[in-house]
Amino acid sequence: MTARTGAQYKAGLADSRSVWLGNEKVDILKHPILAGSIDGMAGYFDWQHRFADDCLVEDPDTGGTMNASLIQPRNAEDLARRHRAFERLTQYSWGMLGRTPDYVNVTLAGFTARSDVFGATGGERLKKFYREVVDGDLSMTHTIIQPAIDKSIPDTHGINGELAARVVRRTSNGVVVRGAKVLATLGPFADELFVYPAGPLPPNTPAEYALCFSIPMATKGLHTLCRDHAGLPGSRRDHPFSSRFDEQDAYMIFDDVEVPYERLFIDCDLDTYNGLRRAGWAANVFQQTSIRAAVKLEFAYDLCLRMAQVTNTETKPDVSIALGEIWAYAQLTRAATKAAEAGAHDHGNGAFFLDDRPLRAIRSMMPQWMIRVNEIIKSLGSHNLLATPSLALFDNPEIGPLLEQFMPGARGVSARDRAEVFRTAWDFAGSALGGRVELYERFYLASQQKNFTRDHEQTVRETAGAGFGRFNEFLKELGG
Ligand SMILES: Cc1cc2nc3c(=O)[nH]c(=O)nc-3n(C[C@H](O)[C@H](O)[C@H](O)COP(=O)(O)OP(=O)(O)OC[C@H]3O[C@@H](n4cnc5c(N)ncnc54)[C@H](O)[C@@H]3O)c2cc1C
Repeated sequence: MTARTGAQYKAGLADSRSVWLGNEKVDILKHPILAGSIDGMAGYFDWQHRFADDCLVEDPDTGGTMNASLIQPRNAEDLARRHRAFERLTQYSWGMLGRTPDYVNVTLAGFTARSDVFGATGGERLKKFYREVVDGDLSMTHTIIQPAIDKSIPDTHGINGELAARVVRRTSNGVVVRGAKVLATLGPFADELFVYPAGPLPPNTPAEYALCFSIPMATKGLHTLCRDHAGLPGSRRDHPFSSRFDEQDAYMIFDDVEVPYERLFIDCDLDTYNGLRRAGWAANVFQQTSIRAAVKLEFAYDLCLRMAQVTNTETKPDVSIALGEIWAYAQLTRAATKAAEAGAHDHGNGAFFLDDRPLRAIRSMMPQWMIRVNEIIKSLGSHNLLATPSLALFDNPEIGPLLEQFMPGARGVSARDRAEVFRTAWDFAGSALGGRVELYERFYLASQQKNFTRDHEQTVRETAGAGFGRFNEFLKELGG
């Protein structure tokens, strides 16, 4: 098969997956509240065809087409090609969808390019799985975090160890996995659940936790527990994001799930598990995440600018400062991406990934910036964010003319256009989906505190405690 259309994607979701929403088990294709999200994700598959020049490339093995996020980068041209695709793909939702399938595709393609670190057996299985994903244009979710409930002890110890997914026995076909993982964004709407290391396991973790595998979402014993849905299927103009882009976030329970050996890429091997993230994961994946963030920040700037124009506050000092602040975040994200691409190099096995340092810094700052952007939107918008009738109401003969008369924008902007701007702003930052997206930005690449800590520790490790070496230079200069 070549790259799929939306209709083909939807047809692929018809299976026996166990998805729980509210107080019931649901058929995702029949539940009315999920319809907008499924159409929204199907729209992404159609988008890759609509902008095929940007989004699709030739599959080097079969000559078919594949999403460019599946390129195993071997040189700067591959990275530039992927960059173009990421720009276009994120424009589908202006960054409001975090987990479009290109996100996990990039991880899989990067791991496959570094299949050498999985060992002979794991590496061969991974390459075979990569082919399955390319051939089927499968959409993947990932769940990689242990559901540590007691933060005073390591993630795999005590009660946390009883909750976390691990191997409990073996069969002739594979390993049996019991436990849970958080979270799986896109979970109910994906074809495959990819489980891989989020980082090294805590010291003294039993090998049973050291797993990397992928299984279809309909695998027996796998339960997908959705949070309350924030999507509002219906009017796209009234709810430009909530109508289509609630990608869901699910808690995953493995109730004695058999993972076949051919889908097991790390089989209770602590060394391979703990070393995997250092084989270029960040250097590969952060190209996608930083481009999404840059496009979203640029969209936020334009949205705020429009809000300011509609209220004629564009030149007020506090508004100018706020707009300039968002502009700076967007520019810094673009600059870091460029710097990381310019510093790309071979990370082993011929895998050509970016210089991860600028993008690790962006990863750590972005939660703060995205939260600040939402704060600015709410601050600039104030009551306007709520004084926004449904756009359909403008056609109502009784109230429509009154809305036009009493709710116009400044500078001759019509009431309908004004409402559209502020409805979009509210859906972006304040609606149930807006609140969820803000939480996503805060945590989807781990907490800011964890990332600052990791970046500092890595620097100390890699420089043997010298940091940037500047203070040593200073002392040398002093003759010390
Ligand atoms: C909307 C959403 C979608 C997600 N999607 C996915 C997904 O698809 N797949 C997946 O695997 N995971 C996903 N996640 C999970 C995400 O990876 C984790 O929630 C994330 O790693 C943070 O969890 P944590 O409890 O480990 O955070 P922690 O790092 O423990 O941080 C929680 C809080 O603890 C405090 N804290 C932590 N460390 C320190 C410190 N050193 N100093 C001071 N304070 C500290 C801070 O207040 C911090 O905000 C998602 C999360 C969200 C919110």
